Amino acid sequence: MPAALGGPRLLLRRLREAMAEPVSPQARLDRIVVLIAANVVAEVCSVYVLRDDNILELFATEGLNREAVHLTRLRADEGLVGLIASTAEPLALSDAQKHPAFSYRPETGEEVYHAFLGVPLLRAGHTLGVLTVQNKTYRVYSEEEIEALQTTAMVLSEMIASGELDGLGSQASAASRRPVMARGVALSDGIGLGHVVLHEPRLVVKTLIAENVDREVQRLDSAIGSVRSAIDALVERGDRIGTAESREVLETVRMFAHDQGWLRRMREAVASGLTAEAAVERVQSDNRARMLRQSDPYLRERLHDLDDLANRLLRALIGPGAAGHAALPENAILVARTMGPAALLDYDSGTLRGIVLEEGGPTSHVAIVARALGIPAVGEVENATALCESGDAIIVDGVAGEIHVRPGPEIESSYAEMVRLRARRQEQYRALRDVAAVTRDGMKVGLHLNAGLLIDFSHLEETGAEGVGLFRTELQFMVAQRMPSAAEQQALYRQAFAASGGRPVTVRTLDIGGDKILPYMAKLEEENPALGWRAIRIGLDRPALLRMQLRALLKAAEGRPLKIMFPMVATVHEFTQAREIVEREKAHLARHGYPLPHPCELGAMVEVPSLLFQIDEIAREADFLSVGSNDLMQFLFAVDRENRRVADRFDPLSVAALRAFRLIAERANAADCPVTVCGEIGGRPLDAMALIGLGFRNLSMSPAAIGPVKAMVLGLDAGEVARLIEAEMASMHDGQTLRPLLTAYAHDNGVPI
Ligand code: PEP
Ligand code: MG
Repeated sequence: MPAALGGPRLLLRRLREAMAEPVSPQARLDRIVVLIAANVVAEVCSVYVLRDDNILELFATEGLNREAVHLTRLRADEGLVGLIASTAEPLALSDAQKHPAFSYRPETGEEVYHAFLGVPLLRAGHTLGVLTVQNKTYRVYSEEEIEALQTTAMVLSEMIASGELDGLGSQASAASRRPVMARGVALSDGIGLGHVVLHEPRLVVKTLIAENVDREVQRLDSAIGSVRSAIDALVERGDRIGTAESREVLETVRMFAHDQGWLRRMREAVASGLTAEAAVERVQSDNRARMLRQSDPYLRERLHDLDDLANRLLRALIGPGAAGHAALPENAILVARTMGPAALLDYDSGTLRGIVLEEGGPTSHVAIVARALGIPAVGEVENATALCESGDAIIVDGVAGEIHVRPGPEIESSYAEMVRLRARRQEQYRALRDVAAVTRDGMKVGLHLNAGLLIDFSHLEETGAEGVGLFRTELQFMVAQRMPSAAEQQALYRQAFAASGGRPVTVRTLDIGGDKILPYMAKLEEENPALGWRAIRIGLDRPALLRMQLRALLKAAEGRPLKIMFPMVATVHEFTQAREIVEREKAHLARHGYPLPHPCELGAMVEVPSLLFQIDEIAREADFLSVGSNDLMQFLFAVDRENRRVADRFDPLSVAALRAFRLIAERANAADCPVTVCGEIGGRPLDAMALIGLGFRNLSMSPAAIGPVKAMVLGLDAGEVARLIEAEMASMHDGQTLRPLLTAYAHDNGVPI
């Protein structure tokens, strides 16, 4: 393209004029390719659109045989055009026919053209089609020419996607609007149907073509300047950043903010006639396309950093108000790369129907809060924010751990049916609320709630649970910005006790460390945090924090009964030491005239296998026991509960695990020491059935599990299942899982699991 006629800026103006003409979409596109060809001095200009069925179809051409329009079709990875579409990268060749991917189509008559330049039509990282120009001579396209064609392609993409090429555009915009299913991990049970609300929304660039290029250059430079100084300030505020890791991340972001290649590409886009914001978005779109195709997690993460930077730049350019945290629409589904629990609590949970995160495992704090709020959530969905746009229809399947963006009508109606079914089932569970959980053979089973935030206590009433079997007090500490004061702790406990309406609450002292990190406490670098300085170990080594919590609890109980238990107890001695601290606090409060809780029972969590070998002693010393099966399984099988590769490798219904559970139940029952299971397995009906068969009579679980577990209990013959398990465990020589057998038993005997 030697000496373009008037350059890209003139072309952009002409394109705008062409858009205003009252002609058919096809005529408009035909006119556009003529304009581009003339402007860039090419003999050929063609537009290929990626159809819904993943076929690239020639939609318009200047220079190739007109008859080929709508006739020439390529698979999305076929030919040079397919290569551009699938890599989302420009391709410039002086002799296209020599390229191994060249696919000759006789109907086009393109054999006389040698030089070829093609660029993808991209929008939000998705390929809508390909724009190509060709010349007869063997010429080499310059960087500026490639850049200019990319700018043109961006304008064309926006026109297609925004429906300005209506009729024609529907095919192409459908390409980026295709239904997408993506898998992640289930974080919070339930199914949500609604529309995407991006947690930190991409800004919509409305003005694409610059009125005054110099002004746009200035705007871009000043936005870059302000973003840079904001990041510099962040890096320098080392005290707030805390960990070495987060500092490293910020340093990388800072490096990108000074990356000359990135800045040059944006400046060139402005120089070619785009507004500053359109230039940022153009470069961001290429970057997103690369991000979507990047399989190396490290590089993808870095591209994410660049994406974040581009968002900051857009915010600086379009200004506040454009992004605005507007009120949530009805049926909002939040989609975010990552989100803290506090950010989630900032939204009006009443209108939230679901949450989708690119990060966030099941035990992440935001997942815990989502569960507490009863909002279906899916995490670890790769590139979720790039897959959808604000307002897209979306389904969050927090049962299977997948999402459906822009679902087809069949998917949507089958999910709608599933939601109706679940609602009916919930209705049935609600009807069980006041029915006592007694098995068919007359065994009473205590069903309790696991709670973390105050909001969980409201589920006591609606589920009919007997009480709170596990109050994870560390959650209050985890969602706070700073260490809660003694007064704040006491106020929370008082509210929690009031909300429980006299039902018993078993409070667990702070279980921090390991994966439960307090944002305001220096993070310890430990090789094996799960085996490290955590929970009761911190409580005994640095008793100030434990004493403050105990005092707050003892005061908040105001003379009523209180149950306190200690997490991660590994030896009986640890338990007796903790008990001494409680006794000292009680004595202190008594001296100062406070009423002491009565009774004040102290329990130990059984979640470290060493306690299995001191089970008689701990059952004698403690007033009650509570089995933390999540950690017990982790330590028993040496499987990191956070590591998806191994987390599900061992079945809690395998013989080894069942023997461990049986031992605890038998010895605790023999010692008349009340015992509860409060790990996740207690909330799964089949697993809970096995626990009852092993002799457990108290289970604590998430609110949503109470109904299904109660329904199971009502249909169960506890004696029969106990005999079945006993016989099977004795005869299973390979020690494998009893799951299939128990499942079959439940089905055959009408036990709902
Ligand atoms: C457990 O380990 O089973 C338990 C209930 O405690 P957490 O899940 O809070 O570690
Ligand atoms: Mg635990």
